[in-house]
Amino acid sequence: MKTKQPEITNEEIAKLKESAIFAEKDRIHFTARFLVVGGLMTPEKLRAAATIAKRYGDGTVHLTTRQGFEIPHIPYEKLPLMRKALENLPIEPARSGKCVRSIVACPGTYCKFGGIDTQGLAHAIFKKFGKRKNLPHKFKIAVGGCRHCCAKPQENDLGVMGAGKGYAVFVGGMAGKTPRWGDRLPFIMQTQTELLALIKVVIDWYAAHGLDKERFGATIERIGLSNMLADIGY
Ligand code: SF4
Repeated sequence: MKTKQPEITNEEIAKLKESAIFAEKDRIHFTARFLVVGGLMTPEKLRAAATIAKRYGDGTVHLTTRQGFEIPHIPYEKLPLMRKALENLPIEPARSGKCVRSIVACPGTYCKFGGIDTQGLAHAIFKKFGKRKNLPHKFKIAVGGCRHCCAKPQENDLGVMGAGKGYAVFVGGMAGKTPRWGDRLPFIMQTQTELLALIKVVIDWYAAHGLDKERFGATIERIGLSNMLADIGY
């Protein structure tokens, strides 16, 4: 006899997506995505991921292209228990929706080519902007330690690249259906404090000028990079 499948409404699927839980093709299994800043995991987080995968998924863990991890194939009826279990584990759901997403960073802190502390910077950026919501669209940030750009800063809404001991900044990059290479700003920020101040005004500008569902790169195309720089006082 065939088991009756649960009826899951589109509204419920949309609601789960806000918590970084995504319906799979069959609409009865879900993938839960988790937050990782700078790609850095700890033994405790790895153990927690294994626990969730074994207990609620099929035992596998998928590494995302943005250095996060996700646990696939969780049956719908196990989601409440999985979410309850997370309350006592050192991992948390990824950011989802129109907000600043997790920060990607290369290991420039200890890579022989790295000029800047990429890991420290990624965590500083996340600490300051990681809760920023209500933006026109998602906002991705990546930090790379040198011109090799292993973290692909040019493919992010805002990318930082080590330039000697300073910071070069790219804005408006994205991958996806209509990829756009980020515009390199015509100056180098010399200190982390200056860089964080710049990131703040850039995000504020996007929040004020971006249209609903418009990626940052499209906002820059529509208004003009030089106009944006004039608006933010750079
Ligand atoms: S971008 Fe540079 S510093 Fe970062 S991992 Fe690649 S080579 Fe190393």
